[in-house]
Amino acid sequence: MPIHEKTLIDPQLLVQSDKLVVDGIDVSGHWNTMILPRTMTEYDPDFYETIQAFPGGENVHRCWQCGSCTNSCTMYAINTDFNPRYWIYLINLGYKSELVKDKDIIWQCVSCNKCTNICPKDVRPEGVMKALAHWLEAEGHTPKSRSTLFDEEFTRQCIERGRIEDTEVMFNFFRQTGQNLGAMLKGGWLRLLIERMNNVHLLRQGKIGKFVARLPLVQGFKMGWAMVFKPRTRSWGRTGEVLREYVEEQKRAAHAGIGSPTH
Ligand code: SF4
Ligand code: SF4
Repeated sequence: MPIHEKTLIDPQLLVQSDKLVVDGIDVSGHWNTMILPRTMTEYDPDFYETIQAFPGGENVHRCWQCGSCTNSCTMYAINTDFNPRYWIYLINLGYKSELVKDKDIIWQCVSCNKCTNICPKDVRPEGVMKALAHWLEAEGHTPKSRSTLFDEEFTRQCIERGRIEDTEVMFNFFRQTGQNLGAMLKGGWLRLLIERMNNVHLLRQGKIGKFVARLPLVQGFKMGWAMVFKPRTRSWGRTGEVLREYVEEQKRAAHAGIGSPTH
């Protein structure tokens, strides 16, 4: 029987004889490849329910392993180790340690949704990839993603003050994700954005009057003011507390779903 997806087998379990003749037929080399048996005891048969608890993972149990998702996958075309069909198989098998081995590539899904469009069982593999990435993050196998850090900052401001300040969200996000603000202001996209917002092209064209007239001084002043004197929604205290309790409740429920909370 041909060995499909040989790369997925532990190399130590693959054995072959360089010289072998059976009944006068030369089956040397890969023609006699055998896979050594192994005994697995670490399956978690309920693991698929854990993934179902994350948004996007609800239909993971429907998969019938046709492989259409992987065949159509944008990332698989670049890297054959990126294999949504295989990961969905492992989820339904409850083989968590094998999934963790691929923690550094699962997050690379680009959400093109080709897999979701082609899947005959409405598994929504793109959602499963997201659910899997969130599970890896929640279990501490991968660091917090940038989107999680952004959500946390956004939520913190909502709960504390009943509103967000764009500038504060942005600067705290940059700080938490270790981005070099100085370098971005010197030559990155942030500089480009600020230049466009302030019509710097007029200055470069020597149209100083127009440039000054269009400077968003009021807006700039408001942003600076809000960074120092942080405005809050009136009578927000009790509402914020209710919101905080709700968010904590949701986190506890999510952790209960994954069995062993890590943070
Ligand atoms: S296309 Fe759908 S049914 Fe087929 S292997 Fe992928 S997830 Fe499973
Ligand atoms: S959404 Fe992700 S898993 Fe699906 S085809 Fe695109 S890259 Fe592959």
